[in-house]
Amino acid sequence: MLSYVCYSCEKLFHNEDRVLYQCPSCQGILGLQYPSLSAQWIDHEELGIWRYRRALPPVAKQHHVHLGEGNTALIRSRAIAEQLGMSHLYFKLESSNPTGSYKDRIAAMGIAWALEQGRQGCVGTTSGNAGAAVAAYAARMNFTYRLLVLEHMAAAKLSQVLVYGADVTKIKGFGTEAAVGDQVFAWIHDQVDQYGWEPMITAFHFNPYAMEGVKTIAFELHDQLGMQLDHVFAPMGGGGLYCGIWKGFKELHQSGCMSQMPHMVAVQPEGCSNVVRAYEANERLPMSGDSTTEISGLQVPNPPDGTMALRIMSEGEGSAVAVADEEIWRAQQALGRLEGIFCEPAGATALAGLMRKREQGNIAADSVVVCCVTGNGLKDVERLTASVDLSSVPMWTIDQLHETGRG
Ligand SMILES: *Cc1c(COP(=O)(O)O)cnc(C)c1O
Ligand SMILES: [Zn+2]
Repeated sequence: MLSYVCYSCEKLFHNEDRVLYQCPSCQGILGLQYPSLSAQWIDHEELGIWRYRRALPPVAKQHHVHLGEGNTALIRSRAIAEQLGMSHLYFKLESSNPTGSYKDRIAAMGIAWALEQGRQGCVGTTSGNAGAAVAAYAARMNFTYRLLVLEHMAAAKLSQVLVYGADVTKIKGFGTEAAVGDQVFAWIHDQVDQYGWEPMITAFHFNPYAMEGVKTIAFELHDQLGMQLDHVFAPMGGGGLYCGIWKGFKELHQSGCMSQMPHMVAVQPEGCSNVVRAYEANERLPMSGDSTTEISGLQVPNPPDGTMALRIMSEGEGSAVAVADEEIWRAQQALGRLEGIFCEPAGATALAGLMRKREQGNIAADSVVVCCVTGNGLKDVERLTASVDLSSVPMWTIDQLHETGRG
């Protein structure tokens, strides 16, 4: 028996026999509801996200799939904090998850849930990282995964999916034309309805169960930080990461584990700033328009969880800011040079947003701030090799090396 709340019409569905994916009365986004978290809610015998199993959808132990996801490091900033004149800046290194992004938390939860439900397989779309994550966890459990990908998917991301053996198809115009995206999502809905496959799209709108994995980021931050957290910056593509972290903090707050909600800042590239523009215009729905950003992972012209994110913002628990692709690439370089943190551009987007907000004078110097570094630097090899000057590396003969002596 599960309980749900609809984030659109606010109806509650208590102790339901049905396994619901959307609100039965308005098709809105559903969130699972749990009894209040108690003091002993962490299970220290378990690994990764399963340590928080008491606050996750119920899954039998034999379906707990674990590849080392979660429990990621929280690193205190040194040089960047100093440059920004901040005293409490931290980076949550989701880039060190097993397939290289925070999507592993969703994949672990989603595959476990699909097994628990006795599904034949799962079907989904990806800009890259979700595909790699689901493919890995599906491979681990010998589970079928049918995947539709963007026309312009980064080669490294596609290669990784293929290594895990998923059944992949590219869709022309997907990722650049909003209308194509709508049709892909509709097709997946049909597959789920007709064949009973598990929808593995990393958004609450499609799979509120799998997305429960994301909130373990909030739980870990709460455990790791040990002080009041003021702002969490997260990149936004489809909006699921943002909403998932918020949900985790909400549960901590509602059960009295946390006295105050942190303010959640969504950061989008200007070339795909549908939620930021809606936030600024006080709209409830994301703005429409094609994506022109080059930031892989954040090219989502129809963000499925955009309305949920805007609702969080309208309730005063978050805000949104857009940054140029160049600012993101600069933040990526800064993380590498100044902190020793190697991430893909999407993973540096939160920091680019913080830099922008700090410049505008919106973040106090002594605020406690976490930037989520969501994906590993090797994820986008094309962009990576374009961002450095490989020809600047000198090549010497061994004799030249000897001639220079030491120092
Ligand atoms: C998926 C992803 C995002 C965006 O998350 P959404 O839930 O789509 O908003 C950001 N960074 C990385 C590295 C990702 O893989
Ligand atoms: Zn509803």
